[in-house]
Amino acid sequence: MTTFNFCAGPAMLPVEVMQQAQQEFINWQQHGCSVMEMSHRSKPFIRVAAEAEQDLRDLLDIPANYKVLFMHGGGRGQFSAVPLNLLKPGQRADYIVSGAWSESAVAEAVKYGNIKSQDIRQKSPGGIRTVVAPNDWQLTAGAAYVHCCPNETVDGVEFTALPDTNSPIVADLSSTILSRPIDVSRYGVIYAGAQKNIGPSGLTLAIVREDLLPAKDALIPSVLDYRLAAENDSMFNTPPTFAWYLAGLVFKWLKQQGGVTETATRNQKKANLLYDYIDKSDFYSNDVDKQYRSWMNVPFFLGDERLNDMFVDQAEAHGLLALKGHRMVGGMRASIYNAMPIEGVQTLVSFMQEFERVNG
Ligand code: PMP
Repeated sequence: MTTFNFCAGPAMLPVEVMQQAQQEFINWQQHGCSVMEMSHRSKPFIRVAAEAEQDLRDLLDIPANYKVLFMHGGGRGQFSAVPLNLLKPGQRADYIVSGAWSESAVAEAVKYGNIKSQDIRQKSPGGIRTVVAPNDWQLTAGAAYVHCCPNETVDGVEFTALPDTNSPIVADLSSTILSRPIDVSRYGVIYAGAQKNIGPSGLTLAIVREDLLPAKDALIPSVLDYRLAAENDSMFNTPPTFAWYLAGLVFKWLKQQGGVTETATRNQKKANLLYDYIDKSDFYSNDVDKQYRSWMNVPFFLGDERLNDMFVDQAEAHGLLALKGHRMVGGMRASIYNAMPIEGVQTLVSFMQEFERVNG
C-alpha cells in the first residue's frame, strides 16, 4: 500500500532523496564509510556543506550580504538566539503574535530584554479566524527588530505581506521556507528548523544580514552566536553533518523540480484541492479567513467530533498517516509540505469523501 505522511514535523521527505540517501548510506561516494562517519572538516564533507549552501542561495536568491548559517537547536533555539544576537541593552523589540509559535517566541524572548508583543489574532462575528494585515501592525519606532511567524504550523494561518518598517524583520519560516519565492532582502533574519521543508530535525537554518551580526564580545552562548557561526562557516562546533548532507540532497531535488516558483505552483494547487473540497462539504470545515489560509498546514474539523478517532484510525488503515490535529486545536491537520505529491492530497480528498458518504 502506498502511504502518504501528513505529519507536521518531522515531516515526510522526497522519496527520491530518501532512496539516494539509502543507496549512499554505508559507503558514501566510495569513501568507504557513511557521510555521518566522516569528519566535518574533511574535504568531501566541506564540499557537501558548501554545495548545500550554494544551492540554497540559488533557490532563494539570497543576496551576497547575507550569511547562511547551519546551526543547532531548532526553532526554539532561535527563539533565544534572536534576542541574544540582536537585542542590545536599552533597545526594544516588537513581537507579532499570530498563533502558537509566535506566542512561544515571545515567552522565550522576554527572558532576555525589553519586548513589546502585539496579538494580531482576531475572530469575525461568524467565527472565522483572521489576523491584522501587516501594514496595520502597531510598531515601535526604532525597534531593534520586528519578529513574526508568517506561517503558524499549529493554527494553519499564513500571511505573505510584510510591514513597511525601517526595523529589520525577523521571520520564523520553519514551516513555510522554500514553499514559494520570497524576497530575502526584505528580511533582517530568516530562520527555520529543518524538519519540515529542509531535511531531518537537528539542523536549523539562519539567514542573517551581515550588519546584524553581533559584536565580537557579546555575551551569547557560543553555539547560538551568529558571528561565531558565520566566521567559522557554521563549524565552530560539530554541525549535524548527516542532516546537512540530507538538506543538500533536498535542495538539489528542489532545483530539479524547477525551483521554488514551480514548487509554489504545485503547493497552491495542492492546498486549493483540499480547501475547495472542505468548503464544498457540509461535513468538514476550516475556520481560517481564506486570504490567510496556510498552504502548508491545513487544520480541519469534522462536524461531529465524536467521529475524530474513527477518522484517524480509518485514514491510517488507508495509508494516510498522522492526520490527528494538534492537541491545542483538536480536529485534524494535514501538513502538505513540498515533499507531499499531489497524489497524496487527491488520495486524502477521496478518503474524506468516502468517510463523509458513510458517516455524514
Ligand atoms: N516555529 C515553528 C513555526 C514551528 O512549526 C516549530 C515546530 N513545529 C517551532 C518553531 C519549534 O521548532 P523546534 O521544535 O525545532 O524547536
